[in-house]
Amino acid sequence: MNLILMGLPGAGKGTQAEKIIEKYQIPHISTGDMFRSAIKEGTELGKQAKSFMDQGTLVPDEVTIGIVRERLGKSDCDKGFLLDGFPRTLAQAEALEKLLTELNAPIEYVLHVDVPRDKLLGRLTGRRICPECGATYHVIYNPPKVAETCDNDGATLIQREDDRPETVAKRIEVNVEQTQPLLDFYQDKGYLVTIDGDQDIDDVFEEIDQKLQTL
Ligand code: AMP
Repeated sequence: MNLILMGLPGAGKGTQAEKIIEKYQIPHISTGDMFRSAIKEGTELGKQAKSFMDQGTLVPDEVTIGIVRERLGKSDCDKGFLLDGFPRTLAQAEALEKLLTELNAPIEYVLHVDVPRDKLLGRLTGRRICPECGATYHVIYNPPKVAETCDNDGATLIQREDDRPETVAKRIEVNVEQTQPLLDFYQDKGYLVTIDGDQDIDDVFEEIDQKLQTL
């Protein structure tokens, strides 16, 4: 199953992605996660991405398309993949279409997790992540069993640099401007499936799961 997951920052993409890959056994390809681990490892890619990420702006297309091309070429993508956080621009979407034609792996569905804009700010500033395994929590909506501690590995949770209140508003603004043309692009191609993201985490997943099984 070849999927793209879309939604504004804070719409719950990461949480739903974890559930989708577990059920459908496909790799989760998150460009944000790839950049964060490159920064952590201090690679050349990490150095290129860091200043953009810290400011809440997009990493240049050529860099981002390059890492996705390399990742989709790996053999674990043969059975499908879930793209998360990519594409973010029309140039990326067009490059992806070309790349997937070459790989003979066309997109089947673009899942758009839709959450009203006014709900996103609180969702983002309350988000915490595990620096070890990348698991995502929310201090109110999805708290860990022990406060500030990862359920999976006991690591102390952190707040992402770009989830701080001063960066969040900018990220949402940048994303709103960039998302609409992509939604239109995929709507025109007939791939777009809209999911109501303004419900409990499990209900959002049930809606996704049902749609994936009936489409
Ligand atoms: P995310 O975890 O998807 O919210 O991404 C965090 C940050 O990584 C973004 O604010 C961008 O700086 C960078 N990033 C992630 N995906 C992309 C992409 N497809 N194109 C450009 N920049 C990206």
